[in-house]
Amino acid sequence: DIRPVRRALLSVSDKTGLIEFARFLAKSGVELLSTGGTAKAMRDAGLAVIDVSDFTGFPEMLDGRVKTLHPKVHGGLLGIRGNAAHEKAMQAHGIKEIDLLVVNLYPFEETVAKGADYDTCVENIDIGGPAMIRAASKNHDSVTVVVDVEDYAVVSAEMEANQGGTTLGLRKRLAATAYARTGAYDAAISQWFARELGDTFPRRVVVAGELKQSLRYGENPHQAAAFYTDGRKRAGVATARQLQGKELSYNNLNDTDAAFELAAEFEQPAIAIIKHANPCGVSVGTDLKSAYLRALACDPVSAFGGIVAMNRRLDKVTAEEIAKLFTEVVIAPEADDDAVAVFAAKKNLRLLVTGGMPDPASPGMTLRPVAGGYLFQTKDNGRVMAADLKVVTKRPPTERELADLLTAFRICKHVKSNAIIYVKDGATVGIGAGQMSRVDSSRIAAWKAQEAATAAGLAEPQTIGSVVASDAFFPFADGLLAAAAAGATAVIQPGGSMRDAEVIAAADEKGLAMVFTGMRHFRH
Ligand code: 5GP
Repeated sequence: DIRPVRRALLSVSDKTGLIEFARFLAKSGVELLSTGGTAKAMRDAGLAVIDVSDFTGFPEMLDGRVKTLHPKVHGGLLGIRGNAAHEKAMQAHGIKEIDLLVVNLYPFEETVAKGADYDTCVENIDIGGPAMIRAASKNHDSVTVVVDVEDYAVVSAEMEANQGGTTLGLRKRLAATAYARTGAYDAAISQWFARELGDTFPRRVVVAGELKQSLRYGENPHQAAAFYTDGRKRAGVATARQLQGKELSYNNLNDTDAAFELAAEFEQPAIAIIKHANPCGVSVGTDLKSAYLRALACDPVSAFGGIVAMNRRLDKVTAEEIAKLFTEVVIAPEADDDAVAVFAAKKNLRLLVTGGMPDPASPGMTLRPVAGGYLFQTKDNGRVMAADLKVVTKRPPTERELADLLTAFRICKHVKSNAIIYVKDGATVGIGAGQMSRVDSSRIAAWKAQEAATAAGLAEPQTIGSVVASDAFFPFADGLLAAAAAGATAVIQPGGSMRDAEVIAAADEKGLAMVFTGMRHFRH
């Protein structure tokens, strides 16, 4: 199943590594065919190249729209070697075999990302490239196709090991990669059209991804798993650099993502500590160290083995505090050298730096598989600001309460429903997550606060004098009364319940200040 490479066609937009690979091919006795810019680059490097237009006897034309779309090219890629009828036809029409195709496409995705105008985007839709890639891949039994610059090395290595030939195993693998590339390319074009048309949810969708790493297992050891990137290069887990520590697991990645997206919500220095995709402590503050200590105080028991995210450059003093407790992952936009040095002794701790923070207000899509399909939705990038709030009680919140209410509601967005969050002076003091009943979440949050107070030797729980946020409206007054009993003095919630009047009356009765956001943050 080894096929010799005697003639290659190279036509690449990204010319990285081209010359080195072409030199290797020339040295191996391979005849080189090429298109305009690629041929010029090779010739400038002193390589002997045959222009495709000379090979076909047909000029490149129509601004490059027609360069390689010719039977001598497609016949050379598609003709089955060893098939008498094919060989006879090829001979009759002067079609020569092309054994290796090296193509990377017009940079359509990059052109769109740069914000180019409509016509420029259209002109960057490659036609001949994908046509050749699909032809060569179909004929993988004989033809080797390379669409990724990174694959030059593996092809060179095989050719060296096999007297200038490649194995069927490699050709199949390269064909699979090639079809994924043309598929992703057409997906990008289709998505661009959908955006141009204002269609958020077009009739057909294709999702493209690139393998970033295989994972040891999924959520559980009996599940296989892998991590794919979407190519959008957004600051976050998929693009982070790991400075130290063990390999990240599926759960680590999921939790780290949750932690970093939460930390990104705040303008002030902020820390989020995550366990099982829910925060067990969040705090904003004047500096990272004090924010960490206050986030930790919310639920120090759960924070053990947690994930810590921040929205500022990690400094030494904060790293020293984090290092006191067993922590699985730390993620930060950047880290000081002396902060990195603090973790050096903690071999297992994974430290990630992202180079920046994501914008929580940026648009995006979320995707969830269900039996027989996928649920798509625009991502929850809603953010409630002070101006969006409607005071519904007799007493308006004080300035201090207002700041905490907004912090609490931002946190709600990142807590599994039903979510109840108590915040005091910028730090969570009780979190109730993922309960089927809102009043249970309220009670759990208060109970957790009591536990933390007892463990810290405090006379009373920190919920006394706190504010409370609910991710969705209180359907009855009971949840609100539970929060009042825990000591909350102000409430933030979307409003919109049939029984709003009853809930407002209960708040007034207890002397609470309550604001409605008009926006809900369910997260399931
Ligand atoms: P070059 O820099 O060699 O002039 O052009 C290389 C690019 O042209 C590659 O990205 C390749 O995919 C693309 N290409 C090759 N043949 C054709 C064709 O017939 N039509 C179009 N539109 N693009 C082609």
